[in-house]
Amino acid sequence: MDFTTVEKNLKERGFKVSAFATAKEAADYLNAQIDGESVSFGGSMTLSQMGLFESLGKHNKMFSHWNVPDGMNAAEVLKNASTCDNYLLSANGLAETGEIINIDGTGNRVSSSLYGHKKVWFVVGSNKIAPTYDEALWRARNIAAPKNAQRLGVKTPCAVNGDRCYDCKSPQRICRGLVVLWEAIRSCETEVVLVDEPLGY
Ligand code: SF4
Repeated sequence: MDFTTVEKNLKERGFKVSAFATAKEAADYLNAQIDGESVSFGGSMTLSQMGLFESLGKHNKMFSHWNVPDGMNAAEVLKNASTCDNYLLSANGLAETGEIINIDGTGNRVSSSLYGHKKVWFVVGSNKIAPTYDEALWRARNIAAPKNAQRLGVKTPCAVNGDRCYDCKSPQRICRGLVVLWEAIRSCETEVVLVDEPLGY
């Protein structure tokens, strides 16, 4: 995929950008950049697929509620995760025009994309990129969210039918907040790591 347009537009919005042909190259880069620091993750299939918890965990202090260590509970991990040096997540949609879109249910992931860290890293596979903001929002709602609902095993109409968002009123609705980064947030450095492979949902 040609990243020229999205790279230019992200940079104009104040984001640092790096781009890689493969997930392996991106993982090597992140392991070189993040060393001897504290790191936390938003729940992310992209980061899981890249094995980043395991590789970064060899030389950093990790906090992930998907990997709760012995002696801690998930709430303690989440509290530590909200203030550590580096926060890694992906995007549910990235517009070529530069807006980064995420939908969340618990809120830890989107809140950490906005505040509390020295640096936020969005790791984004080529499948997450759509030409316009409206199309990126559509993908976040109709592709990413239903697949996440299926992964979580909830009984929402999107998970049952597996085709689109129904803007449901289900008590198990996973889509409870939407965050769009129009520009890089002032309080921390934000880097978008583009990967020319499909990753996550
Ligand atoms: S709002 Fe409901 S139907 Fe739509 S994606 Fe979220 S959980 Fe599924």
